[in-house]
Amino acid sequence: METIAQPTIFELLKKQFGYDSFLPNQEEIINNVLDQNDTIAIMPTGGGKSLCFQLPALALEGTTIVISPLIALMKDQVDALKANGIPAQFFNSSQPYGEQQQVLRELQSGNLKLIYVAPESLPQLNFILKIIKIGLFAVDEAHCISSWGHDFRPAYTQLKRLKEQFPNVPLIALTATADRATREDIALQLAIPNAKIFIASFDRPNLYLDVRPGQNRNKQIFDFLKNHRDESGIIYCLSRKGTEKLAATLTAKGYKAEAYHAGLTSEERTQIQENFTNDVSPIIVATIAFGMGIDKSNVRWVIHYNMPKNIDGYYQEIGRSGRDGMPAHTILFHSFGDIVMLRKFAEGADNEAYQLAKLERMQQYAEALSCRRKVLLGYFGEHISEDCGNCDICKAPPNYFDGTLIAQKVCSAVARLQEEEALGMVLDVLRGSQNAQVFDKGYQKIKTYGAAKDVPWRDLQHYVIQLLNQGVLEVYFHENGRLVLTPQAKRVLFEGKKVRLANFVQEIETVKIERAPRKRAELFDKLRALRLKLAQEINKPAFVVFSDATLEDMEH
Ligand code: ADP
Ligand code: MG
Ligand code: ZN
Repeated sequence: METIAQPTIFELLKKQFGYDSFLPNQEEIINNVLDQNDTIAIMPTGGGKSLCFQLPALALEGTTIVISPLIALMKDQVDALKANGIPAQFFNSSQPYGEQQQVLRELQSGNLKLIYVAPESLPQLNFILKIIKIGLFAVDEAHCISSWGHDFRPAYTQLKRLKEQFPNVPLIALTATADRATREDIALQLAIPNAKIFIASFDRPNLYLDVRPGQNRNKQIFDFLKNHRDESGIIYCLSRKGTEKLAATLTAKGYKAEAYHAGLTSEERTQIQENFTNDVSPIIVATIAFGMGIDKSNVRWVIHYNMPKNIDGYYQEIGRSGRDGMPAHTILFHSFGDIVMLRKFAEGADNEAYQLAKLERMQQYAEALSCRRKVLLGYFGEHISEDCGNCDICKAPPNYFDGTLIAQKVCSAVARLQEEEALGMVLDVLRGSQNAQVFDKGYQKIKTYGAAKDVPWRDLQHYVIQLLNQGVLEVYFHENGRLVLTPQAKRVLFEGKKVRLANFVQEIETVKIERAPRKRAELFDKLRALRLKLAQEINKPAFVVFSDATLEDMEH
């Protein structure tokens, strides 16, 4: 039998897409897909996920069905494919009826290599999918299927049925969300338990990571901008009002800056985005509404005026700088006031505990005493052994001491607790705490009970957080925040790996209230306001001390 030589994937890469080589992981992923296996591809934004299904679409027989939530971007992607001579179409609710019918006819003819479809519109294709040859299903932005993820789309849950209906068609799920809970949920929900998971490195070595306490943020920003006059950058703020105020201040100082938030009309937003992309106003002061689909390569810096609510968002936002691979500077300001505010946002949410745990991890990153990049990548499950040399901690490291013994005790306690307990309980056990939860579970009998009773609670807590930050331990957020050992912990326990720790200096401010109000509720209101004010001013938790006599004076 005579066979026509198939073009190799390298030939397709060059001829159809015009690239000379693959980006990291693309080749392995594409080969896995072409071997008819299910695949989960986790790659950072800009990592080249599209090619991982576009190229197989050309090599496989039949049509590749791409499920994507980004209706606004579908047309661009399809236009780009068509420009490369690849027969492709999209199908979603934004199209007029006639156009939809035309696309359905093309699909039915079997000539399309790719069709992009919104999850909500997928049922409309169902009867055609049953009669044509399907090469591959590609589920883009696959984190939308998980309620753990940050943009859950109910229509994605329908995708469970794909594997039931088409058990023999390979499926690839793609996302930039590296969070473990989401990743496991994707495999479960799409019913692809045997999918091979590829995780590309999330490291962006050209980004300088700078974290600072948030006092005098405006002054710090102006000092920074003096040395970055003509560069393009983004400042993220928590509130709409915040963006407008700061943009106005910058403009008054002669910078070309515009505010961007979800309260603007869509025309205004498009205009501002355009001005930013064309460097008409190279600085944008935005809420997190800004960024999706922005592809500007020369953003030289990103500043977080307020602390973001989790590391996932933070990492995506700083990732919008330095896309050209040239050095870029990122600054994160944080304060206790930000944390108080973010906690308030999380309270009452369905997954409140999960959100609070993620916020706590964000705070731990901000307060880290170890290489920032180690902390970030560790969060995404990527453990590097060397310090990066391109972050504020690496530039000015604290005085470390040999914390190996403490680290061994902590790891041993986590192991003896079967990796089932969260931070609080691990601390209680190590400190030999007498509380009821410890006794209820019989933990006073395990060998590490009280092993660190000589270390003050606060210090010990800080050491455990440093171990988290250094990637010795990991938090499973989706499983009640239990602490788990990483491969590094095993090296600490069994191979004598040395661990450095630093002491955390926490000063406590004391404020006297001269005259206490008569009513308890009033006092609490006053205290709350005072704490918030202090937190914003001095950037640390504040304790207000008053005498018992004052309390007794008050009406209840
Ligand atoms: P993602 O979906 O992962 O965010 P995209 O698929 O949109 O990323 O690709 C990001 C950019 O990388 C695009 O401009 C794309 O053309 C480019 N790209 C993809 N693969 C390659 C490659 N092998 N070589 C060079 N550029 C590539
Ligand atoms: Mg993409
Ligand atoms: Zn570093």
